[in-house]
Amino acid sequence: MKFFEFVPVGRKLFFILTLSILGACTQGESVSTIPTEPFANPQWIDLSYAFDSTTLYWPNNPDGFQHRVDAEGVTDLGYYYSSYTILTPEHGGTHLDAPIHFYEKGETVDELSLSKLTGEAVVIDVSALALEDRDYLIDTVAILSWEAEHGQIPEQAMALFRTGYGKFYPDWRAYFGTAKTGAEAIPELHFLGIQPETAAWLAQSRHVKAVGLDTPSLDYGQSKDFAAHQALMENQIPGFENVDNLDLLSAKGIYVIALPMKIKGGSGSPLRIIATIKE
Ligand SMILES: [Zn+2]
Repeated sequence: MKFFEFVPVGRKLFFILTLSILGACTQGESVSTIPTEPFANPQWIDLSYAFDSTTLYWPNNPDGFQHRVDAEGVTDLGYYYSSYTILTPEHGGTHLDAPIHFYEKGETVDELSLSKLTGEAVVIDVSALALEDRDYLIDTVAILSWEAEHGQIPEQAMALFRTGYGKFYPDWRAYFGTAKTGAEAIPELHFLGIQPETAAWLAQSRHVKAVGLDTPSLDYGQSKDFAAHQALMENQIPGFENVDNLDLLSAKGIYVIALPMKIKGGSGSPLRIIATIKE
């Protein structure tokens, strides 16, 4: 039985009890028996990698994720106590790119509205082409062919691209396409990305509110100007990078919650992103 529907209205979602459930109520039955919470019995799928010593950062980041022990063990008073300090670059592991990452007037992490970080998503599978060519660029042809099968990307949806590269994470060489590390790895990065013109098209013709994928970057490894980032972020569209488990999602009917740490003025942040299949 369908207890509720997601009805996108502008940027907001309203959860509307369907007439069918209302109709199913017999006289005298308490309204409180109707599940009113928006997510009754959801099956959540975790799209975030855990942060640990294997977390992948951009090759020139001097430090990776650090989880320092401040306290760990049984105290003198007999109870257990643990506490740690975390240190992390903003951009690494499963993370969010805020528009200010590549656009001076872009929103910072803390300025992103919650409606931009939650909502309906589509999953566009480009893995067949992407796994064949490490320098592949996702183009409108690929998206239009997805739309021919699944219908047009809904207004204000999140567009997630399943590239197939997620299966390599966190194997540095397989994921980045080079065994080199540090700054000298950057010219030798080979992984696919979004063609800049297509990023602009997603913003202007499909009005997506966020874009994510299972690679280290929205732009392909050989990009020098990160033009796909620029095209999205000039339109105040955040990105999700190093997204896990996209192979567990269907092409559409997905609801995503993508909540970064609320870093004031942040250009990016570790991201906890989860999804449920609502249809
Ligand atoms: Zn980033």
